[in-house]
Amino acid sequence: MPPFPTAARTALADTQLRRNLAHATGTIRAKRAAVIDELDDWEALRQRAARVKDDTLAHLDEHLLTLESALTERGATVHWARTAEDACAVVADVARRHGIRDVVKVKSMATQEIQLNEALAAQGISAWETDLAELIVQLGDDLPSHILVPAIHRNRSEIRDIFRARMAAAGRPAPEGLTDDPGALAGAARLHLREKFLATRMAVSGANFAVAESGTLVVVESEGNGRMCLTLPEVLVSVVGIEKVVPTWADLDAFLTLLPRSSTGERMNPYTSTWSGVTPGDGPQEVHVVLLDNGRTRALADEYARQALRCIRCSACLNVCPVYERVGGHAYGSVYPGPIGAILNPLLKGVGTDPQVDSLPYASSLCGACGDVCPVAIDIPGVLVHLRTKVVDAHRGDAVPKPEAVAMRAASWALADAGRLRLTERVTGVGGRLGRRGRGMPGGRAALSWLPWPGSRWTQARDLPLPPAESFRAWWRRVGRDEGGHA
Ligand code: SF4
Repeated sequence: MPPFPTAARTALADTQLRRNLAHATGTIRAKRAAVIDELDDWEALRQRAARVKDDTLAHLDEHLLTLESALTERGATVHWARTAEDACAVVADVARRHGIRDVVKVKSMATQEIQLNEALAAQGISAWETDLAELIVQLGDDLPSHILVPAIHRNRSEIRDIFRARMAAAGRPAPEGLTDDPGALAGAARLHLREKFLATRMAVSGANFAVAESGTLVVVESEGNGRMCLTLPEVLVSVVGIEKVVPTWADLDAFLTLLPRSSTGERMNPYTSTWSGVTPGDGPQEVHVVLLDNGRTRALADEYARQALRCIRCSACLNVCPVYERVGGHAYGSVYPGPIGAILNPLLKGVGTDPQVDSLPYASSLCGACGDVCPVAIDIPGVLVHLRTKVVDAHRGDAVPKPEAVAMRAASWALADAGRLRLTERVTGVGGRLGRRGRGMPGGRAALSWLPWPGSRWTQARDLPLPPAESFRAWWRRVGRDEGGHA
């Protein structure tokens, strides 16, 4: 993926995308605001959830070991995966041992993050998404653009065209004469997916939460596809980020109120599935849990920014972000787009090596809306600024410095000595006078933006204030004590 500014420019040219996004995010925003206004203790709930997450992250090693032993006691097999490759290898190995060529999937950000579908495909195993929006993305050979609504960039006529063109190659074809009526589209997906649920012997899921004390995994969802995947197949593998752990059932309480209201604007999510290992004769008889690091311990090591690991993937921050609303999710080059993506990707991957990752903390106007809506009170603007500092620090030794670094070095040189400052003021004064003269000419408003310097691109979207023709110090010297009278 190109760095964010380049990708955003391409996305901005797509007016259909902007229309779809504005409509969809506007609708979810209004629903969220209405259900949150109903609660008097919303702020207290947010703070409680933030405290639970922070306390858990501070003792993550202990809680993970508790989770592992509770899961093992209840018949699950626990695997530890340091990298995406390790996690994919575990899932592929389980499928291979059972001679399985097809798996059904519950919508899961962790499995998208590790590119599990691609890894399984490389081993000849097909992974079928069963969430409606994920199905649209998969059939359209597309990329998700929103955490909760991955096909938010598609309108219903585009979805009808995808179903008509692609469903047959993946299984049951779309019904004859399929229209773009939402009910008809959902019906077509239901028929298509039901065949997959009944025929597939293995499922892969993530988990929204993992309760350490009882070894219970929790998945919340709206469509019931998750419940089908978690109960029908013989084998279940769940890939769970290590930050998903909460110590007790009591700790889970606040999150089950915060998540549905922040994500879909519902008071309760329609399906909450919980399972602890294997129950003989009921549900999957072989259960594996892959505890995934993939950069989370790197994020944990940053004492300030580790608050990003509180994230419960509700996507409220995406829906209020003016930048996301205009460019959509693809411009962020990651399964985690929007404000949370702008902080989580650099934290998971590290800064200083990939220009795309380094560009993400700047993909924000720092308006603060994301931090205000976050149900676990992550100070997203604060973390963005913190990460910008880290990006700058990581590039201090670059052989070819960035224009900002050159400008800062020049400023430091000028401000370190009175004589140099005088000289700089004289030069900028000349620039100011020229600029003012340019204003009188046709198209002369941005006189300084004609200059072949890096600032000229900067001024294409902003006004560059002209330096004063005479600096304060020069004025002071000129009028002296007689006229100034204050010294
Ligand atoms: S950062 Fe906060 S608002 Fe954004 S997805 Fe995560 S929990 Fe939701």
